[in-house]
Amino acid sequence: MTIIEQAVDVLQKATKVVFFTGAGISAESGIPTYREKLSGIWAGYDPRDLETAKAFRENPPLIWGWYLWRRLRVAQAEPNAAHLAIPHMANLLRHVSVITQNIDDLHERAGSLNVVHLHGSLVMPKCFACHRPAVVPPDQSTLPVEGALVEPPRCKRCNGKMRPAVIWYGEDLPTQAWKAAVQLVKDCDLLISVGTSGIVMPAAGLPDLALESGASVIHVNKTDVAMGENREFMLIGAAAEILPMLLERIEAGKTRGT
Ligand code: NAD
Repeated sequence: MTIIEQAVDVLQKATKVVFFTGAGISAESGIPTYREKLSGIWAGYDPRDLETAKAFRENPPLIWGWYLWRRLRVAQAEPNAAHLAIPHMANLLRHVSVITQNIDDLHERAGSLNVVHLHGSLVMPKCFACHRPAVVPPDQSTLPVEGALVEPPRCKRCNGKMRPAVIWYGEDLPTQAWKAAVQLVKDCDLLISVGTSGIVMPAAGLPDLALESGASVIHVNKTDVAMGENREFMLIGAAAEILPMLLERIEAGKTRGT
């Protein structure tokens, strides 16, 4: 059996499947991963240095402007064939869940339900001082073009500066989301990791947890990110090609009654 046939076989036999996704799944929707260089006023910055409370404290307009620009890109983007394949698979397989490190909403817009967001969301900002969410999200039509420094708006309750409600480096993951993710991974018999470099902890530990709990792991990535364990299958290529191909084979298997 080829590696693809083996992966399809595992997928067809699985009863509980978890998709664990990272920035790579949204790359073909035009949303850059952190491996790509920034341009404009952010050129020369490593995104990981902009994703910190320290960076926000030192230069709020730089960080707020960067997030507004990212929100605009997400608002203009569409889910791609990889996002769309997941809810289709959910119709064919027994139980499918999605855990994402992404802060975009492309899984939801593709039709996936109950997506667990480990790193928060770009959509609704929160207050840097009192941590409460914004009363209303900023109007999409006022989002700036690339390169704007923008003073963050003020919290309607405490007058603190608003910040994006995403998890910055050095911050804890949301407890509920993390607990839900660990439970789903411990209970699954197959985890499909899509477009994640496996570097950002603790989320990156979820494929290991799946293997330790006896599940199989399929990696879908443009580069080899497998850890060389048994029960791991590395499918190298673009997510927007590989996930629809897996979907097609499952559909064909259903038609044949296998
Ligand atoms: P990452 O940037 O560290 O790695 C991206 C991975 O995707 C790489 O391994 C790369 O080889 C792979 N990849 C790139 N294009 C691909 C494609 N078309 N098909 C399949 N794989 C592809 O991303 P990460 O592992 O998610 O972790 C970094 C952090 O980046 C996360 O915390 C996440 O919140 C944040 N982030 C999110 C977004 C988003 O919401 N879309 C975008 C950029 C960064």
